[in-house]
This record gives sequence, C-alpha cells and structure tokens, in this order.
Amino acid sequence: MPDIIQLLPDNIANQIAAGEVIQRPASAVKELMENAVDAGADEIKLIVNDAGKALIQVIDNGRGMSETDARMAFERHATSKISIIEDLFRIKTMGFRGEALASIAAVAQVELKTRRQEDETGVYIEIENSIVKKQEVVASPVGTSIAMKNLFFNVPARRNFLKSNAAELRHIVDEFTRVAMSFPDIFFSFTSNGQEVFHLEKGTLKHRIVQILGNNYNAKLVSVQENTDYMNIYGFVGKPETAKRTRGDQYFFVNNRFIKSAYLNHAVMNAFNEMIAKDSFPMYALFIDLDPAQLDINVHPTKQEIKFEDEKIVYAFVQSAVKHSLAQFSITPTLDFDLDISIQQTDAVSKPFTEEKRSSAAASSLYNTFTQKNQSHFIESKSELKHWKEFYEPGKKMADAKYSNSQQDIHPANDQRPMIGDAFQLHNTYIIIQNLRGYLLVHQQNAHERILYERFNKAVDGKPIATQRSLFPATMELAVADTVLLNELLPDLNHLGYLLEPFGNNTFVIQGTPADVDQGNERTAIEKMLEQYKHFSMDLKFSKREKLLRSLALQQSVKAGTSLGQKEIKNLLDELFDCDMPNITPNGKPTYLEFKKDELDKLFGR
Ligand code: ADP
Ligand code: MG
Repeated sequence: MPDIIQLLPDNIANQIAAGEVIQRPASAVKELMENAVDAGADEIKLIVNDAGKALIQVIDNGRGMSETDARMAFERHATSKISIIEDLFRIKTMGFRGEALASIAAVAQVELKTRRQEDETGVYIEIENSIVKKQEVVASPVGTSIAMKNLFFNVPARRNFLKSNAAELRHIVDEFTRVAMSFPDIFFSFTSNGQEVFHLEKGTLKHRIVQILGNNYNAKLVSVQENTDYMNIYGFVGKPETAKRTRGDQYFFVNNRFIKSAYLNHAVMNAFNEMIAKDSFPMYALFIDLDPAQLDINVHPTKQEIKFEDEKIVYAFVQSAVKHSLAQFSITPTLDFDLDISIQQTDAVSKPFTEEKRSSAAASSLYNTFTQKNQSHFIESKSELKHWKEFYEPGKKMADAKYSNSQQDIHPANDQRPMIGDAFQLHNTYIIIQNLRGYLLVHQQNAHERILYERFNKAVDGKPIATQRSLFPATMELAVADTVLLNELLPDLNHLGYLLEPFGNNTFVIQGTPADVDQGNERTAIEKMLEQYKHFSMDLKFSKREKLLRSLALQQSVKAGTSLGQKEIKNLLDELFDCDMPNITPNGKPTYLEFKKDELDKLFGR
C-alpha cells in the first residue's frame, strides 16, 4: 500500500481557509474596509454591484504598498501587523491574521492597484484562484484600490448558498455601518449599482450616528462617558422614548472593533430597566477602550466575538456608566406648565450636570415639584407661578437665590400656620391639629420621612450630623455585594452620623451612629438601610446619594402605630412646617390633608 497523506495545494488550502473568513460578500466588505482603515486612510469608498456578487471594490487614500508587498499581501499568513506572538496582545489594528487577502484571492477574481507616496509609479496586479495572472507598472493615485469580481465563481456550492440580493445587501450595509460608525474622522461613501447610498463626511461621533441612523436621533441621544484607569467608555444611548420594537441600532465597539456580545447587551438593557417597555430595544453606540492585553480578539475568525480578561468588571462598568448617563438625563426637569423659553434654558433647569449640582438640584423642592408624580398641582394659582418665574428671572444667579428663602412665602403650607391648641394622636398614626381655617390631619410616618429627608440633605452638603460613639462597637459581617455597596456609601454615611470602619473580610465595625438611633440597634438599622437602598436601586433616576437619603429617611422614620408623647408631637409638627416642602414625602405621598371649616359646615348643612 502506498502512503496516502499529501499536502494540499495552496489554492485549495486557501479556499478552505476562505470558508471561515469570507462567508458572504459582506465579510469581504468588512475585511477590505478594515484594511483601508489600518492603512491610515481618511477617505474610503465602497462600491458594490449586485449586492457584492458581481463586484466589491474598496478605494482608499492610505499609505499604499510597495511592489513586493503588493505581491506578498495575497500569501496566506502574510501580514505587516504582527511579527511575534506577543504582538497579539497589543493589537491596535483591525486586522492581524494575514488571511483576508489570501482568502479573497482564492474565491474571486481580484484586481489590485496601489501606490505609496514615495514611489513614482504604482503597481497593478490581477489574481484569480490564488494565481497571479498579470502584474504591471501603472499610474495610480496614492493609496490602494482592491476590486474583487464574481465572488465564489470557482466554488459554485458557496455561490448557490448566497441569499437574495436584498438580503446580501443588508449584510453589506450592516458591515459598512459598523466600520463607518467607529471612525467618524474618516470620510466614507457607499455606492451600490451606481447609486450613492451613503456619503458620510468627517465629523463628530454624534454627527456620524445621526448621519447613519437618521435625523430623528438628533436631539434624542444621551452621551455616555466614564473614564477609569482600567477602561474608558464613551458613546451615546438613545433616550428611552426612542426604544424600538425590533433589535437593531445597537452597537458595541471594543478598541474600535465592532463586537457582538449578548453579555454586554444585557448590561445595557439592565441599565434601561423600567425606563422602557419590556419587549423594546434601546439604541446604543458604545465604545469601550481598554488595554489590548485585557482581551483576546483572536477567538473567532471574523473577530466579532472577543474574550475579556475580566468580563464581570466590564459588565458592571458598562451598566453603571449607562445608568449614570440616563440618570443625568432624566433628572432634567420636564416642565409641565408654560414657562418662558428663556427660563427653560437656564443651566439650572436644563442641565444639572456635575454630581454635586445634580444632587443639590435633586434635593431641591423645585426639582421635586417638577418631577414627582402629581406634584404640579401644588403650584396652582397664577400668583404662585409668578414667584417661580421671578426666581428664575434670567440674570439672577442661582447662588444668591437660596431655594428655601425664595420659597418660604409661596408654598401653601405657610397658610396652615399658626396652629391653635393641642394636637392629638389618632390610632397611633395620625395627628390632628386645629388651624385658622379648619384642621390638619397629619400622617406621622409620612411627615417624619419628609423631615428626615430634608435634614439629611442639609447634612450631606453642609454641617454633618453628630455621631454618638458606641461604647461597645459592634461588628457586622455582610455579603460581598453589600460590602461593595456599603463601601461606596461610606463617605456620605459618615456625614449622616454613621461612623463605620471597614475591617476586612466583608466586616465593618460600627464606631458610632447618629444620636437618634437606639443604641443596640445599630446593626439592624444599617442592614435595613441597605435593604431599602437596594429596593431603590431599581429606580434609575436617582443618584447614589439621593437613594441613600431616601432609604435612610424611610427606614428611620417613626412608624405608623407608634404612640407619641405631647412633646414629640409638637416637635414633629414644628419641624414639618419648617421644611422646604412640608406637604409631601420625598416619594410624593401627602404628609397631611387640610379640612376647611367652611366645607365641613357645608357637609352639615350649615
Ligand atoms: P491582515 O490585515 O490581517 O494583516 P490581510 O490579508 O487583510 O491581513 O492583509 C495583508 C497585508 O496587506 C496587510 O498586513 C497590509 O500590510 C497589506 N494591505 C492590505 N490592504 C491594504 C491597503 N488597503 N493598504 C495598504 N496595505 C494593505
Ligand atoms: Mg486585513
């Protein structure tokens, strides 16, 4: 018996390899465009006929190739982009496997024309079936033009496998879009059957997104931008109202390479949670930049799937960056009554930007008034509206118009005072007190929540709440996730009177708590606060601090069913009506109701 193993001829080996890299016209489009990008072009033109089945041509003004390189480029494993294995882990180019041109030359008729700046003449090469048919010196502009004709002409099985022109063209548009979107500073055009379909001038990323996805996104993009030592993320997400019923305008780029990642998609969807309908898909174009050593792009022949060294970090980062941006956007008050356009455009109304500004805006009653459900009716009469306008008179600085002062005379609560006589507690839940016009029925827990919320708000921004040192500091062990959370909250908690020290191994020592937390109950108080915080975590419109304040207020408020003494009742009422916004809880529930005497009289037929 003779030996039976033989080496495959190059053209067959290339054809087999081509099956992985070039599955359809769109794959060739991707490879050729990426090569043009790698060549440093700032003008890239794509021309296709018959959805790429007849012709795919990419013309660039990049650095071109020497005569020898032009021949070499079509050899398998011929690449200028890596030379040692370590290079794989610092890849900055789109290509590196040295397979694309070899594959293309194995399954199509290829015509290459290229010239470098330093060469007087260019070179023209024709290749078919991996064999060079023609090579000559030609006049050529600087850059490269590669045309591939009759894709799969020599692999009929593959050619028959191609879908309709419409379907293949859609794939090409997808690939074109992905490359064009990640390089807004490169001009791209796309001509199909003689018609220019895309003409994308250089510009900003936002400009490019709108050029590609349509003008309707123009005012509907929320910018995402977070930088850390480990990674950066930037890009845009569509405002929730632009979410669509079909998946589509969703793009992830890692080091400018489009990738598909169900995992990261999940992170974004999570960030949008509850802002969009369950079965809808938000638009996003997000760019993650990180050290190439932190990822493996070589897990898939078309490089659309990659592996992160630490997937979990990337997930958490993406999710929180998007959440953060959405929170910033949704905190911008939507005014539901007519205000001057000049007022709407003041910085304070249109963009509470920095973390600091944002939380102070979020804490302000003005913000609450605009954003909380059913709150606009608290500003009813024309005269009150006038005050708001005065407050926002253009030119008047935010700084010299302190919220509390300017509002003192306009919120309805001032009319509720003075209160007359003693107050009584009903069902250990309600407090009833007479005023000039009738009586007020106060819900003690709701009222206390409002008081604490405003007190905490003032404390985080100004004078901290006094801490009562524990004589016997308790320790507290938490789940890992809770430890992470608590660590984030520590600085604010400290201002609020909680003195907690991380003790390693998910353990904290409680050195002190605010004076009004019962000694001995510190641990439960903190655990409950964390529970409450996690509950609020679903709510994207709030900053971390806002969630903390709300959680603490809820958790520490005196509960319905608690019996109160005369002095406690009086304090509660005094403090309530000293609040900037005494009539509602931070979540918009009423704290008291007013019953007017004339209306009571009417009820009794008087
Ligand atoms: P890879 O991109 O992985 O290196 P390719 O087969 O796509 O492999 O390309 C092989 C080589 O040919 C590239 O490394 C590059 O040096 C050269 N090349 C390909 N396209 C161009 C182009 N448009 N302009 C300049 N050089 C190119
Ligand atoms: Mg390439």
